[in-house]
Amino acid sequence: MEFQISPKQETEFHPSENNGSNPLEQFTETRLIIRVKFLLLHRRLGLDGFRLWVEVILTVRGDPSIIATLPVGKTLCGLGQPAVFPRLACGIGSSNWFAHSFFMTPPPLLDMAVIGAGPAGSTCAISALAATGEMSIALVDQATFPRDKACGDGVRLDAALLLKNLGLDEIFEDRPLIGDIRATVPEGFEYLQTIVEAENPDEPDARDYYIVERTVFDDFLCRSAIDKGAEDYTGHRFVQAEQSDSGEFWTLDLTDPFGATIQIRSRILIGADGAASRVRRITGQAKNSDVHMSVGLRAYADFEDFTENAMRFDMLKSLIPGYGWLFPLVNRRCNIGIGIAQSDYKLGKHKLEYFLDDYIQFLQAEGITIKNVTGIKNHPLPLYSQALSLLPTPGSALIGDAAAMISPLTGEGIHYGMWAGYLLGEAVGRCMNEGKMLQEGLDDYERAFGERFGESMRKCGALRDWIRIQRIFS
Ligand SMILES: Cc1cc2nc3c(=O)[nH]c(=O)nc-3n(C[C@H](O)[C@H](O)[C@H](O)COP(=O)(O)OP(=O)(O)OC[C@H]3O[C@@H](n4cnc5c(N)ncnc54)[C@H](O)[C@@H]3O)c2cc1C
Repeated sequence: MEFQISPKQETEFHPSENNGSNPLEQFTETRLIIRVKFLLLHRRLGLDGFRLWVEVILTVRGDPSIIATLPVGKTLCGLGQPAVFPRLACGIGSSNWFAHSFFMTPPPLLDMAVIGAGPAGSTCAISALAATGEMSIALVDQATFPRDKACGDGVRLDAALLLKNLGLDEIFEDRPLIGDIRATVPEGFEYLQTIVEAENPDEPDARDYYIVERTVFDDFLCRSAIDKGAEDYTGHRFVQAEQSDSGEFWTLDLTDPFGATIQIRSRILIGADGAASRVRRITGQAKNSDVHMSVGLRAYADFEDFTENAMRFDMLKSLIPGYGWLFPLVNRRCNIGIGIAQSDYKLGKHKLEYFLDDYIQFLQAEGITIKNVTGIKNHPLPLYSQALSLLPTPGSALIGDAAAMISPLTGEGIHYGMWAGYLLGEAVGRCMNEGKMLQEGLDDYERAFGERFGESMRKCGALRDWIRIQRIFS
């Protein structure tokens, strides 16, 4: 891993003068620039070698977003570096990224770096940009979108209403709103079936659901954030962050799509990087213990002999306090899966696929046929039952799964993560507008999230414990 590049010497062959403060402003027409760079590389432990680069840069009408580059280079005497690394980059990254890479200005300083462009991170960026046009935000994700995420794909209407407030609810236009639930719960050795019909099917309830594949939903949110002005750092993995001695900003190391390390700086750092959050670890918060974790397995399949207007939850004895689910998508396709407490899973001897097969057989016995199973994928669920600070250090905050915002009872997290992102973005944007310290916005976010969800999350945790105890005594 290359940590720093210095000292730097370079020779440029420029067709014209560049005497402005921002070199990118000089590109007002189509140009071809050939630059030769000679770089000494060192890692933390000493000199690594030196590298020769030839870059061909094409700029068209001064728009840095359509710069095409063809860097080819060779690391000479390098330790552990690939000897030859031809690379091609075309129109990726932001203007800051290009300015930093090509002109070696100090890393760009942004107001906020959001690590993770899932529902929590993207909503945070959208909400902040809706609150203020002033804020510069880096939206960083190691994935390029669209990307898949193992999930039941159930988005609570409450989250959809939040998006509606932000003018972004077109994603739900062709999806039915589902208000009915079929649930089976075991009693002794018998299964009791419960049907929870929507009280008034014509009046949506905040607990109704849309089922939207995460590949589609997350892509929509991430694109919306970028369209609204967040700087696009998708395809960039967050590696490390260090806070300046004064506490004024963070310096972040990111790995770009070609494996090179780039740096950005930001006043505040937001961890929205999911269940295995690196931000959470770097800011000194322990991960959830097994008792406060579940693990889930999701698949897509065709189904027959079940209504398309109800969601199904089945609390099989082998899964309790987890359950199996069948959520209908369009065209008799469904999202089907199982969730189980991590501690139970680790104690047992079965793979997750075993529980899914078991669930499919259970449904068959109930008269529901499942066919053409595809897209099997698992993922951990950190539950909100473990004590955790949403503000691990001054200048940083956690949202979504990074802050274990998953209901201990239902395993839902999309709606909590989106609300956390919304509250944080809104509070920080407001501080920016009022000329206040951004930290005040982070404090407001922590308070607002606790007030809105703290009590119900605690009740869900208590109910989960009660169900576990019932299981042990039965
Ligand atoms: C099997 C299963 C079923 C579920 N079903 C439901 C459901 O039906 N309804 C519901 O509400 N919730 C459900 N959940 C929970 C829900 O999926 C999560 O709560 C939700 O995804 C949290 O969103 P997030 O934005 O916090 O994190 P994520 O969606 O996990 O996004 C985190 C992002 O961070 C990125 N990232 C991670 N590390 C780095 C890094 N080092 N650098 C850069 N980027 C990084 C990832 O690429 C990812 O895009 C389910 C979970 C599971 C596992």
